[in-house]
Amino acid sequence: MTDTTSAWPTARQQELVAKVATLGPVFAERAVHVDRTASFPTENFADLREIGFLALCIPEDQGGLGADFATYALVAEEIGRHCGSTALTFNMHTATMLLTGPIADALEFTDEERVLHETRRNAMYKGVVEQGHIHAQPFSEGISTGATTGIATTATPTEGGFLINGRKIFASLAGAANRHNVICVVPGDPTVRFLSVDAEAEGLTIEGDWDPLGMRGTVSMNLLFKDVFVPAEHELLPPGGFDKAAEHFPYFYMTLSFAYVGLMRGILDFTEAYLRGDVGPSARREVAAKQAGWATMQIQYEQARSLLHTVIREADIDPDLEQLRRAWISVLTSMDNAPEVASLAIRVCGGRSLLKTFPLERMYRDARCGATMLPWGVEVLLGRLARYGLFDEDQTKYHAGA
Ligand SMILES: Cc1cc2nc3c(=O)[nH]c(=O)nc-3n(C[C@H](O)[C@H](O)[C@H](O)COP(=O)(O)OP(=O)(O)OC[C@H]3O[C@@H](n4cnc5c(N)ncnc54)[C@H](O)[C@@H]3O)c2cc1C
Repeated sequence: MTDTTSAWPTARQQELVAKVATLGPVFAERAVHVDRTASFPTENFADLREIGFLALCIPEDQGGLGADFATYALVAEEIGRHCGSTALTFNMHTATMLLTGPIADALEFTDEERVLHETRRNAMYKGVVEQGHIHAQPFSEGISTGATTGIATTATPTEGGFLINGRKIFASLAGAANRHNVICVVPGDPTVRFLSVDAEAEGLTIEGDWDPLGMRGTVSMNLLFKDVFVPAEHELLPPGGFDKAAEHFPYFYMTLSFAYVGLMRGILDFTEAYLRGDVGPSARREVAAKQAGWATMQIQYEQARSLLHTVIREADIDPDLEQLRRAWISVLTSMDNAPEVASLAIRVCGGRSLLKTFPLERMYRDARCGATMLPWGVEVLLGRLARYGLFDEDQTKYHAGA
């Protein structure tokens, strides 16, 4: 799925990263308002659409840019460097494109399932390419750490489709997405279904407040589904396809961490400029204690980034146990190092760097959110590593995020 033989990053990857980097300064400028008002970065998504990036991971023959998993990771890092909320919401959108595209292509389906899947996904891609549809992925329900277990949202078969009932928490892009792609189960059948709910559908309501610590532009409110009709053709994977993806391509759960590695880079950019005196009160680079802190920040960033790049380069269908463990450690390192780097940056830069005139305090708050993201939350992964190798248990049982 990812080309591991070519130079790294490839010319195409560099080209795509350079393209999205042109939006970086304006994303960073808008991040202030997005954070203060806890509002969705609508203008950033319009810009991403303009340069074709809503279709980044849609196959080229369907009008997309045909980016693979690793290329997406590099692009997400670059966006996260400038605006964490944009990177995280762009992740929710793009994850659906990856899941239905390159990931689904690598899974085994019957011929009949394959034909139906391609018809359905191509119609969905058309909405993205031609009408700029934005997709969201509200999976969380707050009742389990697993992605394929503990799902209480139901899809009851009815004429022409399903009726959805349930509640999703932290539904990023609430009020902004055109489609909310949910995981749910048919009553009496544990097979996970992946259904795309129209944001305008009757019976769908957004509930709750949204005034969180960080990643405020994600607008991750709760979604309530009461007999919401979803036509059969909006089932975006064959029944069981989501379970297969979880089992054979668990790397899917890493995608959130890309934004946090980018965020760390943004923190480094700021700290370097601040210590040099390019921004802020005056240069502080001569102070040995600050130099030491700055050195530690670089080490923590590079540890996370290098490990991430090793993992995304080898990411392919059916990883072995060592590869799976490496992927877990990569996510842990990214999600834990980000708040540590942010915290150190504040200490190194000093008191005035906390002022809202600077982006650092927002980055600090944004960085704090990563460790809580399921199903590969930091505590969950630490729990797996704590037992790894010590017992005769099959680690692949965790593929599905059980
Ligand atoms: C900014 C932001 C944006 C988000 N966007 C999305 C999104 O778009 N889509 C989406 O699906 N989710 C999203 N999430 C949700 C996220 O992935 C988690 O599901 C959420 O943070 C869980 O919150 P919780 O309060 O239920 O906490 P948790 O404490 O994680 O609890 C969840 C459940 O798991 C159990 N649990 C927790 N830890 C463990 C453990 N170590 N071992 C065993 N059981 C455990 C708890 O008892 C509980 O039943 C977002 C979160 C944030 C902060």
